[in-house]
Amino acid sequence: MNLVAALWHLQVTDQEIDEKTKRARQVEDALANDPTVVAARAAHAAAQKQLGELRGLQHDRELEAKGLETKTKEIEQRLYSGRVTSPRELEGLDRDLQMHKRQRSALDDKLLELMEAVEQAQARANDAARALEQAEAKRAHNLEQMERERAGLSARLAELAADRERTRAALDPGVVRQYDRLRQTKAGRAVAPLKRDACGACGVAVPTGLMSRVQAGDAVVLCPSCGRILTV
Ligand SMILES: [Zn+2]
Repeated sequence: MNLVAALWHLQVTDQEIDEKTKRARQVEDALANDPTVVAARAAHAAAQKQLGELRGLQHDRELEAKGLETKTKEIEQRLYSGRVTSPRELEGLDRDLQMHKRQRSALDDKLLELMEAVEQAQARANDAARALEQAEAKRAHNLEQMERERAGLSARLAELAADRERTRAALDPGVVRQYDRLRQTKAGRAVAPLKRDACGACGVAVPTGLMSRVQAGDAVVLCPSCGRILTV
């Protein structure tokens, strides 16, 4: 491999290293966290919480209803026991009884509404549980794929790193420094292949004299316009 071909090979290697490193980072992020599962988990927790709150309310109202029922029975027993004879007292007991019955009726309406709300909340919680299960199953499947991809990327990156070191070691240190500087300042493209008689990066025509030096391939020839190392 002549000098310019080696530099081109180095650039191709470096570009693949950049690309694979970027992908490896994405895979690591995806392995660490899955936004779909996180959202499904939050939705499931919220649905369960709402269901719990509604069930709590239902339970409280049921206790209230039981209390009213006991109270009503007590009043009825006194009212029909025959032991109370005073008309005023009887009238008072009857008023009390009617009041408790009205309260009970209102409470029954509320209980009915609550039962419906609990049913709906239960359905939502079931849906959320199913969605979470699906998201987790999909995640488990993706994890396998991503772990395989991570292993593949890691193996390829190790190969590339070794290749890069070999290429750099075979080059003159001054040329390597020049290449590194250009890669930094030219957005990762230090070496530009010729396109007919022009620089493949900036498109400016290269004088014939320079062209033949590039074709010889044993010296660094820079594009007179963009300053990149030219190659065939
Ligand atoms: Zn150029």
